[in-house]
Order: sequence, then C-alpha cells, then structure tokens
Amino acid sequence: MDSNSAKNLRSLTISPLEDEDEEVHIEEAEAEEDEEEDEEDSVQLGFVEKPKNPHLLLSHLFPSKAGGLPAWLDPVNLPPDNSRLCGFCGDPLQFLLQIYASIDGKESTFHRTLYVFMCPSMACLLRDQHEQWRHKEGSPSRSVKVFRCQLARSNPYYSSEPPKLDGTDRPLCTGVPMCCWCGTWKGGKLCGSCKKTRYCSEKHQAMHWKSGHKSECHKLIASDSPIVNNGNGVQDLTVFKNGLNKATWPEYEIVIEEESGFEWEKSEGNSSSIGTSAIVTKYNKTDEALQSVMDQFEADADKKSWASFEEHISRAPEQVLRYCRNETAKPLWPLCSGRPSKAEIPPCRYCKGPLCYEFQIMPQLLYYFGVKNDSNSLDWGTIVVLTCLASCESSISYKEEFAWVQIYPATSIRPGRLTM
Ligand SMILES: [Zn+2]
Ligand SMILES: [Zn+2]
Ligand SMILES: [Zn+2]
Ligand SMILES: [Zn+2]
Repeated sequence: MDSNSAKNLRSLTISPLEDEDEEVHIEEAEAEEDEEEDEEDSVQLGFVEKPKNPHLLLSHLFPSKAGGLPAWLDPVNLPPDNSRLCGFCGDPLQFLLQIYASIDGKESTFHRTLYVFMCPSMACLLRDQHEQWRHKEGSPSRSVKVFRCQLARSNPYYSSEPPKLDGTDRPLCTGVPMCCWCGTWKGGKLCGSCKKTRYCSEKHQAMHWKSGHKSECHKLIASDSPIVNNGNGVQDLTVFKNGLNKATWPEYEIVIEEESGFEWEKSEGNSSSIGTSAIVTKYNKTDEALQSVMDQFEADADKKSWASFEEHISRAPEQVLRYCRNETAKPLWPLCSGRPSKAEIPPCRYCKGPLCYEFQIMPQLLYYFGVKNDSNSLDWGTIVVLTCLASCESSISYKEEFAWVQIYPATSIRPGRLTM
C-alpha cells in the first residue's frame, strides 16, 4: 500500500487536530486575546461555496456538501422506508447536508459520512421540539434525522486507492435506482401504468404526476425506452435540477477551515458590549433592533448566552457548521434554556454506549438556501448532532444518530441570520 496515497485520502478527513504546531498556535492566540475564560477546543468551521464542478460532489469522491442530492456512501443499502419520512406530516425528508468525517485508527471507520435530513415544514419542527425530550418513552417521532454510514478501506463500492480527482475516478458499482422526483431516496415503487418511473413514496409519485408525468406516462408505455433507472446517473434527470421541484435545497460544497485562523472581533468599550457591537457591524442592525431581539429573551441567562453565541460566530459570520469531535467538546448554544441535560441524551441505539457531541449546524445555512426570513418559514437557533462515541458497527448501513434542535422564541426578527 502506498503510504503517500493513503495520506492523500486521509487529507479529506475532518478529524480532531493532532498537529502539535496548531495546538501551540491556538494557545498563543488565546493568551494574546485573553478574552475567553474557558479553554477552547479546536473547532473546525464549515462554509458553503457554489460547487466549481458538481461532479466533484459525487459519492466516490467522498464530499462534504449541503443541499442538492445526498451522495450516499453505501449506494445500495439506503435507509429504509420508515426512517426517511417526517414523523409528523409523513412526507419524505429533505436532504440538508452531509459531512465526510472519517476516524483514524479504526479499519471500520476508514470512510465515514454523517447525513442530516429534515422536513422543511416549520410546523413539523415545532412539534419536533416537544418530541426530542421524550426518548425515554419509546422512540419519539422526529422531523430531523441524522444517519451515520461507515466503510472499511476495502469495500465493494470504491477503490482502496484515493481518488485521482482528474475526471477518471469511478465507483466500482452503481447504486440502487432512485426516486425520479426527489432523487434523494431509493425509488422502491414503480409507476403502475408505465412501470418505468420510480418513486420513494406515493407523495412524490402524485407530485410528479401533477407536474407532467400524467401526459408523459402513456408515451413511456408506447416507447421501448428502459426503466428510468438512475442509480448514480441521477443528475441526468432535469426535474430536480436546482431544486425546481422544491424537493431539494440549492447545492453547495462545504469547505472546512480552522476557527483559530479567524480574528476575534475587537470591541471598543466594555466587555459586555462585545457581542452586540459585532452584530451591529456584521448584520447592519440598529441598536433598537438589537434591543428588541434581546428583549425577546426573558431570562438574563438567555441574553448572556446569546451575546456569547453572537460573539463567537462574529469571528466568521458566514459559518454554517461547527465541527469538533472530542469527548470534552461542547456545542455553542444560542440560548441557555432548551438545552438537553445528560439524562435527555439517549444512548446509542445500536451499542447502547454513550453519544458525544460531534457538530452543530448554524442558521446561516438557511440564508444560503434562500429560506425566507418570516414567521412561518423554517428556522432554528442551532441543530446539534450527537453520535456514538465508539462509532460502532452494526449490520445496518445507515445508523440513526441523534439531533437536538434549539429554536428561538417566536419572533419577528431572527437573531443570528444574515439578511438578504
Ligand atoms: Zn413534516
Ligand atoms: Zn422521492
Ligand atoms: Zn408512468
Ligand atoms: Zn454505538
């Protein structure tokens, strides 16, 4: 095995920092800034960029991406019917993002990708808010789901050598046929008339029927064109290009950078205004607007928590993701209330071992997805993803992990979001 190519493949990885130089650098920076009391874990920030080449976001190149279609790591054993639907409205969930985050030192996690899906309905997310506390009473319904998939270096789907990224990389096999409406989920159901188009659900079949399949269906019956089977060639179908059918969000590549590379906002005046001054400049909000945001938080603890949250993200306001897989790492909570205690975090459903914090998704992502900033639109303060500490193995390819969503109190001004 060529150790150099193994290293190249590893360079795709997001993993806790092991580079001593970097750690020294962070400590120095902390000493200089002298603004943080807590010891800081080394956090990696995710930013979205328009894909330079959408072909670089396919499964066999192990991408981290947001929106568009999921690049399934295991392209055959996709999540089953019952785990891909919103627990409230029953619609298929929409792909939010995936992070390639392999773990060193274990053969089974040579490749490892985490996927987040959610229902785009804010009404469902509000119901989800109550359910996320109730895991002890059985498996609660959720509108946000996280899957973990991992593969050994030697596996049936991909070469054990790192991709060359020169356009010649190919997966070793095609995946299962996908739904021709959403392109997201396995197309397990065939159109009853033409028996050529595939769907993940009756809902998507109905939507495709209404939007044109009604007239195309009989033409497909007459033609001898093959079944619309799009395992990995799913991108050929134009129906979900650019989210035209509203079953996908716009597609982005996720680029990772070290938080330590970003400057802290220096505030003039006393330390209590650090958070707010950063937002005034970054979000172009007036002091009154800010005051009204602050007023919505009843508890002082929430005000303090939000100011600290804003201060942290002001270092890089465009961040959509914060990643730190480290037993001692903690998420950055916008609010003090509505956080889970240890008892509220379930054990791993597979090995029964503990879960640990791995990453959190910031509301900025909604801005890039073009989600409106009004009271009925999807919104959250943060989505915290916890995964099995052992990253355990099981016969199930897509293992469900745990998401905790913190939303803001009902408000007309959304704190923490860039505005259009
Ligand atoms: Zn729903
Ligand atoms: Zn579908
Ligand atoms: Zn048909
Ligand atoms: Zn486990």
